[in-house]
Amino acid sequence: FLNTERSLFVPDEFKELSYQDHPVSIGCGQTISQPYIVALMTEMLKLDGYEKVLEIGTGSGYQTAILSRLARAVYTIERIDHLADTARKLLKSLGYKNIYFKTGDGFEGWPEEAPFDGIIVTAAPEEVPETLLYQLAPGGRMVIPVGKQFHTQTLYRITKTETGFKSENFGWVAFVPMVKG
Ligand code: SAH
Repeated sequence: FLNTERSLFVPDEFKELSYQDHPVSIGCGQTISQPYIVALMTEMLKLDGYEKVLEIGTGSGYQTAILSRLARAVYTIERIDHLADTARKLLKSLGYKNIYFKTGDGFEGWPEEAPFDGIIVTAAPEEVPETLLYQLAPGGRMVIPVGKQFHTQTLYRITKTETGFKSENFGWVAFVPMVKG
């Protein structure tokens, strides 16, 4: 966290807000998540450095950068071209090498690269997308906010066990909606 300068991921007009514990607008109606939530969701993934992680919702690329330092490889998907391009250029210019980018619909996941040891979803779907569940490796964890837009959502960690899936509730959160297509 100390080595990942959040202000680099925040647009010029909001730079002074970079070190407050709040979400900040990044344009296109989207936000860079609050640092506390980025830390919490990262911790919930239980990374030890060897994992292959899928991130849905690249946004500013800030969470992507943090994950890149804590996992073997990060596969990140963003549906808005402009955000995907900006984050890709920024992360490349900062020298991050273990990040793979895709512009498209995160509801489909990244089947060619599955299974993943961790999946982190940084926008909220109304229900857990089954397609993503089936891209988890045995023992893999998915961290995901679930619920309707304009309502508080619930943050879950879903672990793939030998017999099925285990779900743990981490409380209320507020995310932008995960949009189909
Ligand atoms: N981790 C990002 C959060 C950005 S907000 C950050 O801290 O900057 C969530 C992002 O999810 C937005 O950029 C939004 O465009 C994206 N998103 C929403 N629905 C999506 C979908 N179906 N597939 C991929 N990205 C999606």
